[in-house]
Amino acid sequence: MHKPIKKVVIVGGGTAGWMTAALLKKVLSSVIEIELVESEDVGRIGVGEATIPPIRDFNDVLGVNNAEFLRETKATIKLAIKFENWQKIGSEYFHTFGAAGKTIAFCPFHHFWLRANQSGYQTNLWDYDLNYLCAIANKYSPLQTQNPLLAIPHAYHFDASLYANFLRKYSEKRGVKRTEGFINHVSLNAETGFVEKLHLKNDAIIEGDFFIDCSGQRSLLIHKALGVGYEDWSHWLPCDRAIAAPSERLTNTLPYTRSIAHSAGWQWRIP
Ligand SMILES: Cc1cc2nc3c(=O)[nH]c(=O)nc-3n(C[C@H](O)[C@H](O)[C@H](O)COP(=O)(O)OP(=O)(O)OC[C@H]3O[C@@H](n4cnc5c(N)ncnc54)[C@H](O)[C@@H]3O)c2cc1C
Repeated sequence: MHKPIKKVVIVGGGTAGWMTAALLKKVLSSVIEIELVESEDVGRIGVGEATIPPIRDFNDVLGVNNAEFLRETKATIKLAIKFENWQKIGSEYFHTFGAAGKTIAFCPFHHFWLRANQSGYQTNLWDYDLNYLCAIANKYSPLQTQNPLLAIPHAYHFDASLYANFLRKYSEKRGVKRTEGFINHVSLNAETGFVEKLHLKNDAIIEGDFFIDCSGQRSLLIHKALGVGYEDWSHWLPCDRAIAAPSERLTNTLPYTRSIAHSAGWQWRIP
């Protein structure tokens, strides 16, 4: 017989941990108790983060104040990703979060654009993509519109560690309990094999009905305790190292991420 879940324990307080805590608390409110365990000795990844538009849905579900979010996470607007030097040195293209033109009668816009071109009406497809036009003009406006032609789908660049702090504040205010402590050992239930208890360095024991592993690359529950392992994709992904470095501040903050190909890897530049 399954026991009802009354207490959820989240292992880790990086972006994954605090996003999980905030969302569960928002959705399940007082139905469950939530405890999050993290260790300042281990720390977070916490680099500059380039997100994609669903981050806004996430913030909307939480009901966070957007101005507060932008301020506290030092966020900037992201309209697109600009790929540079990928096809050949000097080549570039934008992957925008918007779209060129509008689908009419189930027919994507580029068909109309191609037809117009064949008929002698020569235009650039990008001229119909508002995100692209805003990105290259370094502009953005929070438009309130139902018209998809005028919408500017966007995401944010922000500091991942500040976002975790922001959501920590949100979650604790709503009753999520945070425990500071290094997890030494995880014990499993002898019968079910499920995670049962966390044993902290200071000898404290944390029990719960449902555990969520947000311990990042350490994978304390999924890998270490449960031995699930992972699929090795290194044959498809030859780049297996990342170096994070602060870059020079530009006079005008760009509203897009740059992805720049190099002879030995690629560079992600996040405003
Ligand atoms: C250079 C670089 C660039 C990146 N760029 C992007 C990007 O542009 N966009 C994007 O979406 N993602 C990006 N990522 C990935 C993203 O930053 C990470 O996947 C994400 O921040 C990881 O968050 P996390 O919460 O899973 O893990 P972490 O931030 O590693 O948090 C792990 C948590 O587990 C806790 N923990 C671990 N072990 C223990 C223990 N024994 N006891 C107690 N607590 C423990 C830690 O205290 C910490 O709170 C990038 C990553 C890197 C390295």
